[in-house]
Amino acid sequence: YTGKTGFELITEKIKKFHVQDFMQIPIVVKEEVSVYDAISTMFLEDIGTLFVVNEDSCLTGVLSRKDLLRASIGQQDLNSIAVHIIMTRMPNITVCRKEDLILDVAQKLINKQIDGLPVVKDTNAGLAVIGRVTKTTITKAFVELTKENHV
Ligand code: ADP
Repeated sequence: YTGKTGFELITEKIKKFHVQDFMQIPIVVKEEVSVYDAISTMFLEDIGTLFVVNEDSCLTGVLSRKDLLRASIGQQDLNSIAVHIIMTRMPNITVCRKEDLILDVAQKLINKQIDGLPVVKDTNAGLAVIGRVTKTTITKAFVELTKENHV
């Protein structure tokens, strides 16, 4: 018997959960893609947040469902407006890295009131997008806490 409280045990377990164990595949679009095509991609990929990249495949922006809805209720032709016009752009993007704790990502989602973060890796050209962590990811990690042999 270790003498640890339930609180200590659960905290210990949560602190073993890292981004790389739970992250999902990122769906990215290029900056020049139209809002119309981004909406199509969001439906086809069944995803709530798209990441926008430049020619070097480096992160330049984020598109949420509401960003696309906002653009859609205007008068513009959705085929003629590029996503870089409406996206949330760097350097205002909250990111995480694969070594980060899931707990720290969850805290960022709460603090920034957002649904997801890109998992990035530093390259000479900028930040490469290697994954995605969303509220769904956090939900999966939460359920994993109840399992005997988690990741
Ligand atoms: P929605 O707007 O569909 O409710 P979010 O809450 O995730 O989805 O997004 C809210 C706003 O924050 C949007 O304008 C979106 O572009 C932006 N956003 C989403 N994710 C991030 C992020 N990781 N970093 C910075 N801004 C983000």
